[in-house]
This record gives sequence, structure tokens and C-alpha cells, in this order.
Amino acid sequence: MRNKHIPQRTCIACQQKKDKKDLIRLVCTSSGVVELDLSAKKPGRGAYLCARKDCWGEGFKGNRLEHALRTKLSDDNRQTLINYGSSLGGEG
Ligand SMILES: [Zn+2]
Repeated sequence: MRNKHIPQRTCIACQQKKDKKDLIRLVCTSSGVVELDLSAKKPGRGAYLCARKDCWGEGFKGNRLEHALRTKLSDDNRQTLINYGSSLGGEG
């Protein structure tokens, strides 16, 4: 086993640790809007979700994401993100 350092992050829904590249980053921008950060390079507080529908559903249940990002999502903002999540596959 090579001891290669791969950055790991925790999905806020299932709490599993995964390689950063297997998770989708959400970032709370300075304007308070939560955006997808597919490049994982945007500045701001970030949270991670698996690229699977189940975790997005779970992540938006209650205030899990808002709690992780310490922000308040507007209805529009939340819906945009949920829509993205529903385009993801259910497995994997
Ligand atoms: Zn997950």
C-alpha cells in the first residue's frame, strides 16, 4: 500500500468519508447565496455531498446544509440546488 495523501471530506448527509473528488462541494458565497462549486476552488465556507440523489435528498431535509454552512437558504436557492440533486443518479 502506498501512503499517498488523498484529501478526504465528509458528506453532510451520510457522514461517510470519501475522496474529495467523489463529492460535490457547495459553497456559501459572500453574498449569502449557496452555489455548486464543481471546481472546488471557490472561496467561502463549503460543505460536501455525495454525487447521489439520496444524499442530496437527505442533505436538504431539515436544516442540515444550512447548519453546515451556517447560512439561511432562500426558497429559490434551495430549489435550484434540489433540482440539481434530482438530476443525479440514485446509486453509487
Ligand atoms: Zn453521502
